[in-house]
Amino acid sequence: MFYKVLILELLVIGGLVTLRVRQNAEEGPTTTASQVDLPASEVAVTPLPDRPLRPVTNAVEGRFTFPVAGHGPQHVISVFGDKRGSSRKHKGIDIKAPRGTQVVATTDGFIERVREGGSGGKQVYLRDGRGRLYYYAHLDSWEVEEFAAVEAGDVLGTVGDTGNAKGTTPHLHFEVLLGKKKEAIDPLPLFLAAAK
Ligand SMILES: [Zn+2]
Repeated sequence: MFYKVLILELLVIGGLVTLRVRQNAEEGPTTTASQVDLPASEVAVTPLPDRPLRPVTNAVEGRFTFPVAGHGPQHVISVFGDKRGSSRKHKGIDIKAPRGTQVVATTDGFIERVREGGSGGKQVYLRDGRGRLYYYAHLDSWEVEEFAAVEAGDVLGTVGDTGNAKGTTPHLHFEVLLGKKKEAIDPLPLFLAAAK
């Protein structure tokens, strides 16, 4: 498999070098990339088997680390589904902890996004190997960069009150989001099951 990719890359690089040489030679009209005829690959392309996509599910399996170091479900001060105003509902759980407490990766994965702004303040998005997205908000500081690979328990940042939590009790707002529509599910069962 590796060699197939290597051969393909060599062919592509070969084509680009040819293009560069032609352009430098200033012969005739300038050749654009779209006009270059790349040599055909000698590697036969096998079509992917016709398999249905496996949807991301909320099956509770494996090991989940509680997202705040030294804390547990007993420190949750607002649960999934709590009312927020007249129509909105809480899409995650709030975990109370002193400012500066370490926020950790709940599972193995990679950091999909680190951003600051809006109601979430300092935020981190962690993506796992099953496609689930874990959202951390109101952080005081970050300890990771985007695209870093992390293992469960690795420190992502610290608890704070940034965003619309400014001035409230420092806490981590934590969500678990599924699929393309980022459907929020109740994160608490993940930890209750893991604690058994
Ligand atoms: Zn919250």
